[in-house]
Amino acid sequence: MPSEFELITRYFSRPVPGDMLGAGDDCALFSVKPGMQLATSTDLLLEGRHFFAGTDPFRLGHKALAVNLSDLAAVGAKPLACLLGLGLPSVDEQWVSRFADGFYALADEFGCALIGGDTTRSMQGVTLSVTVFGEVAPELAMRRSAAVLGDDIWVSGDLGAADIACRMLAGELPRDEKLLAQTRLALEKPTPRVALGRRLASHVHAAIDLSDGLVQDLGHILKASGVAAELEEVAMPVHDALTGYDAAHVRRAILAGGDVYELCFTASPAQRDSLQRIAIETGVPLARVGRITSGSGVVVRDAGGHALSDLPNGFDHFRSSGDARL
Ligand code: ADP
Ligand code: MG
Repeated sequence: MPSEFELITRYFSRPVPGDMLGAGDDCALFSVKPGMQLATSTDLLLEGRHFFAGTDPFRLGHKALAVNLSDLAAVGAKPLACLLGLGLPSVDEQWVSRFADGFYALADEFGCALIGGDTTRSMQGVTLSVTVFGEVAPELAMRRSAAVLGDDIWVSGDLGAADIACRMLAGELPRDEKLLAQTRLALEKPTPRVALGRRLASHVHAAIDLSDGLVQDLGHILKASGVAAELEEVAMPVHDALTGYDAAHVRRAILAGGDVYELCFTASPAQRDSLQRIAIETGVPLARVGRITSGSGVVVRDAGGHALSDLPNGFDHFRSSGDARL
């Protein structure tokens, strides 16, 4: 069985850019360009809570970094570097090697160097903690508090697939192998919208990435900005594979499904043409799903224009009964 240090040397010490100091010292070193601010975020992923035991290690490595890069995307920052905290109940080198390959593949794609971390034995299950660092011009950083009355509300990509896949895997929905095959990548291999976030920063007001469900995450923008929102259900970008699927499950997946890692943002109606151009340039569809109004809270209108009376709730790790979502 390899020691902690052998594991680090073998799997987590790939070369870093010449202007950085990576794994091997007590601290890593890197700089941000003059005039830029450091953007940083950390996310914890626990087996049985955020991912299923037995998840493909390559995809898990990808996802552990992807959910953090998504936070950088949401403020419009450029990824620079990351740290990886790894708690393993036992050492399966094949597993670690695949995990590292998935992690590094995404890190390389986004120019986010792994410059350090911590590795330890865990008592129960795999524990992952990733911290990312990026840089952003302070005046461009998108904040949750910047939504303005009359703004359009936009969502990138499509919605619903990750939630349906998760609920099938959890046994909450009947398992349909074809549908699972079509939706599973959204759950296990989300694409962080980094290039989109950086392009959006000079065109939009508030932004957030969708991790806990549209209504709940948009709610954070509304609260921080002191405004309300009206959403149009027919404008929602529903994932293709969900066409014809049970309407109540789709509604719940769209409004409250977590693990989406698309961006939700608000922008002046004057930006509509620019945003459509950005969608084409980045290859990421953007859907205009509602508008910012006065007051507080979210109203969702169905196809007939009626406000839904019972909005499904997003995911809250401490309020949920424990096994509602993983
Ligand atoms: P210390 O005890 O001084 O915190 P460690 O012995 O924990 O240092 O780690 C040794 C070096 O290996 C450090 O530079 C640390 O950043 C790096 N490291 C540890 N675990 C990981 C990991 N999972 N991925 C990348 N680097 C790691
Ligand atoms: Mg240490």
